[in-house]
Amino acid sequence: MTRITNHLPTAQLQALDAAHHLHPFTENAALAQKGARVITAASGVMLTDSDGAEILDAMAGLWCVNIGYGRAELAEAAARQMRELPYYNTFFQTTHVPAIALAERLARLAPGDLNHVFYASGGSEANDTNIRLARTYWAEKGKPEKQVIISRHNAYHGSTVGAASLGGMSGMHAQGGLPIPGIVHIDEPNWYAAGGEMSPEDFGLERARQLEAKIAEIGEDKVAAFIAEPIQGAGGVIIPPESYWPEIQRICDAHEILLIADEVITGFGRTGNWFGAETYAIRPDIMTIAKGLSSGYAPIGGSLVSDEVAGVLAATEFNHGYTYSGHPVACAVALENLRILEEERIVERVREETGPYLREKWEALADHPFVGEARIVGFMGSLALTPDKPARAPFAAPAGTVGLIAREISFENNLIMRHVGDRMIIAPPLVLSKAEIDTLIERAIRTLDEAHEEARKQGLLVAG
Ligand SMILES: *Cc1c(COP(=O)(O)O)cnc(C)c1O
Repeated sequence: MTRITNHLPTAQLQALDAAHHLHPFTENAALAQKGARVITAASGVMLTDSDGAEILDAMAGLWCVNIGYGRAELAEAAARQMRELPYYNTFFQTTHVPAIALAERLARLAPGDLNHVFYASGGSEANDTNIRLARTYWAEKGKPEKQVIISRHNAYHGSTVGAASLGGMSGMHAQGGLPIPGIVHIDEPNWYAAGGEMSPEDFGLERARQLEAKIAEIGEDKVAAFIAEPIQGAGGVIIPPESYWPEIQRICDAHEILLIADEVITGFGRTGNWFGAETYAIRPDIMTIAKGLSSGYAPIGGSLVSDEVAGVLAATEFNHGYTYSGHPVACAVALENLRILEEERIVERVREETGPYLREKWEALADHPFVGEARIVGFMGSLALTPDKPARAPFAAPAGTVGLIAREISFENNLIMRHVGDRMIIAPPLVLSKAEIDTLIERAIRTLDEAHEEARKQGLLVAG
């Protein structure tokens, strides 16, 4: 049997991958034709592929490698923990030091009185937990009718049956009979796409008030919670108008429903504060965390809950949990990651220094003829590509046609940007330096120029 190593030729690795590996969110037959890019190593903000290309990863993996690649301290924390106690569960009245230490650290870092954590292995699992948590909370309060969870179209909350039901991705709902009952969706605060002639502030209020209307329609006595990402990530980095979140908070306070902030992306420094809840002055009752919690070095997520929610839940046995809830190795890695984020003042640097620097350059991309909007908060930004700038028009071609062209060109330019429809998005590692920001912007401009030209050649610069 051949050992499969980095040293096999790329084509051979691609053939083996195509033969046996089913990729997520991928048309596998098409990928098999083309061959997946094989990533072999990474350091700082740079990836290396099997052909030796050095690629600037402006997506931090999948929005998660906040401290950058190659931090040996995390490898050492994992190895140390594996030698000492590689695994033990937290089900049967047992606990262990990494789970305790991380819970204490999270309680200290999280805003308000989110002082309690229920561990999961990622964001999807944590959101599944949240569905049961919110409903069980109301049942324990003597209001078992409060079951409905309101979410938003084009939200992303994960890929399990529960989490994908919470999400508002039509492509996901189309497969496998989603959403499950008891989950309804309102519109997203996407001013660029749907705001028309309204001011962003009026539009933000209008979209927030859909929540109030939906609560009235269903009945306050039947609604358990509203869930939302402070800034929609996978939906295309949709930054809400400033008026949106205060109005949502007012509505959640006025009606008796829980607010669940899904901070899987916005948590741990992404917006220039530790949590998006701080950036938008939100007071969630439950917060979903994952991704940047371990900078992606180990799979871990969780639900942070308020004193009130934890107190109510404590009175019953919550019949829920995962084999890997509070996995000691993942907790040890997360703790080391949080230590680095804190001690190296990485979040503060994004807020005060590199974030503003990137913002100035990123927003200037709005001057490019191909760009209808360039927005960024902290280290999470998007560009809307358009054939007609003043009209903020979409393309006549199916959504994503032009975005995909730009994504491919970006890869050729050794810059990983992702496309969501015809929006280009970035969420780089939080350790990105000013010099690396210059490189990112240089490659992004080259990509925009070349993609614009390619779209022109293909006759795609037509408004739809
Ligand atoms: C990625 C993501 C999830 C899902 O997390 P997984 O770790 O992939 O299960 C949930 N919510 C948001 C906002 C995400 O971006």
